[in-house]
Amino acid sequence: MSEPAAASKPKALSTSSTNHTFCRTVNASEVAASYTAEITSSIQASLSASSSAQRPKLVGFLCGQKDSPSVTYAEWTRKACESVGIEYELRLIETEKNENDEQGQESVGGAALGAADLETAILEANSDPAVNGIMVYYPTGAGQRQDSYIQQVVTREKDVEGLNFSYLFNLYHNIRMIDPRTLSLSLAHSAQLSAKQQNGEVNAGHLVKSILPCTPLAIVKTLEYLGVYNSILPYGQRAYGRTITVINRSEVVGRPLAALLANDGARIFSVDIDNIQEFSRRRTTSSSSSLPHHVVKDSKYSLEECLRMSDTVITGVPSKGYKVKTDQLRDGVVAINFSSEKNFEADIKDKASIYLPSIGKMTIAMLQRNLLRLVEYQKILAEQPALTASV
Ligand code: NAD
Repeated sequence: MSEPAAASKPKALSTSSTNHTFCRTVNASEVAASYTAEITSSIQASLSASSSAQRPKLVGFLCGQKDSPSVTYAEWTRKACESVGIEYELRLIETEKNENDEQGQESVGGAALGAADLETAILEANSDPAVNGIMVYYPTGAGQRQDSYIQQVVTREKDVEGLNFSYLFNLYHNIRMIDPRTLSLSLAHSAQLSAKQQNGEVNAGHLVKSILPCTPLAIVKTLEYLGVYNSILPYGQRAYGRTITVINRSEVVGRPLAALLANDGARIFSVDIDNIQEFSRRRTTSSSSSLPHHVVKDSKYSLEECLRMSDTVITGVPSKGYKVKTDQLRDGVVAINFSSEKNFEADIKDKASIYLPSIGKMTIAMLQRNLLRLVEYQKILAEQPALTASV
C-alpha cells in the first residue's frame, strides 16, 4: 500500500492559556486519520473492482480473562476493523481459569473454541485461505518463553504484528525490502537471501516492504507526522541529527523502536530498569559489505543527562508511580507516552512543545496497514512460483 497522500502536517500550534506555553496536545486518532482513510478507500476500491473480491479477514486469538486489558484491546480492534471494512473474528481459547466462565466468553463477543489449544488453532488459521491476518493477544498466560514460541507459530504470510523472527531480523539488520516469495522459505534461508538481495549479490524479484511490529511502527509514523523526522532528508536518514530518549527496552516495543530510530539516523538513549544503552547508526566504508544498521554500547550518561540532551522523549513504563520529571526535560521537548500509565508529570505541557498522551489508535491503524500489505503479498505468492532454497 502506498503512503497516504493526505499525511498532512499538524495544524498550526495553539497557545495554552496558562503559563504562556506553546504546547500542542496531539491525539493518536489525529495522526491515524489519513492512514484510516487510505485503508478504507483501498478496501472499497478492491471490492468494487471485482464481484468475487472478499473483505480482508483478520483473526485475533485471546486466551485471557474477561477483565484483562487484552479484552479491551480486542474490542477496539474489532470496532476499528469493522469501521474500515475489515472482517474481524475473535477466537477464544479456553484455559483452566476460564473454561467454565461462559459469561467471560460472551462479554468479549468471540466464538469459543472449546478444548482446542492455541497452537493448534493458529496452525488451522495459518492454512485457512479465508484468513488473511492473524494476531495473538499477549501475554497468553502460558509464560514468556511459550509466548515467544507462539509468535513463531504464526505464519509469516499472515503475521500482521510483524513479530516473526525473520521480520525482527530484518528490522535489526536494516533490511527494508523483501522478495515476497521468500516468505515460503525457511527462516534462516529467507533472512540470508533478503540480505544478499539487498546487497545486490543475488538478483531480486519484485521487492516489497518487510513487515514491522505495530507499536514501534506507529511511533515512527507519529514522529514523521510531528516533524521529528525531517522530510527534506533522504528516505532512511530522516531522523539524522535527532537525539531521542526511549524509556522502555522490551522486546516488543522499546528495543525494536530504538533500533528503527537509530537505523534512520537518530542518536538513541535506550533506558530500562537496569541500565542505559546508546543506539546509533553504524558508519559504513565503501569496502565494507555490512549493512548500515545500528550499533549499541553502554551509555556513560545518567538519565538526567540523557533527558537534557534529548529533543524527543518516548516513555513506556508500565507502573503507576513512574514519572519523568518535567524539570529535567529540555524546553520544547516532544513528549510521547505509550504506556497504559501516565509517565509524564501533570505539568508536562509547561515544558513540551508537543505532547502525545497515548499511541493505541495509531497501533491499530498500523495493524490494518500491515494486513493490507500481507493481502498483497499473498496474491503475489499465489500467482508466482515459490523460491527454492538453491536460489
Ligand atoms: P514490559 O514490562 O515488557 O517492559 C517494560 C519496560 O520498562 C522494560 O524495558 C523495563 O526495564 C522498563 N522499566 C520498568 N520500570 C522502569 C523504570 N523505573 N525505569 C526505567 N525503565 C523501566 O512492557 P511492554 O510490553 O513494553 O509495555 C509497556 C507499556 O506500554 C505497558 O503499559 C503497555 O500497556 C504499553 N503498550 C502500549 C501499546 C500501545 O499503545 N500500542 C503497545 C504495547 C505496549
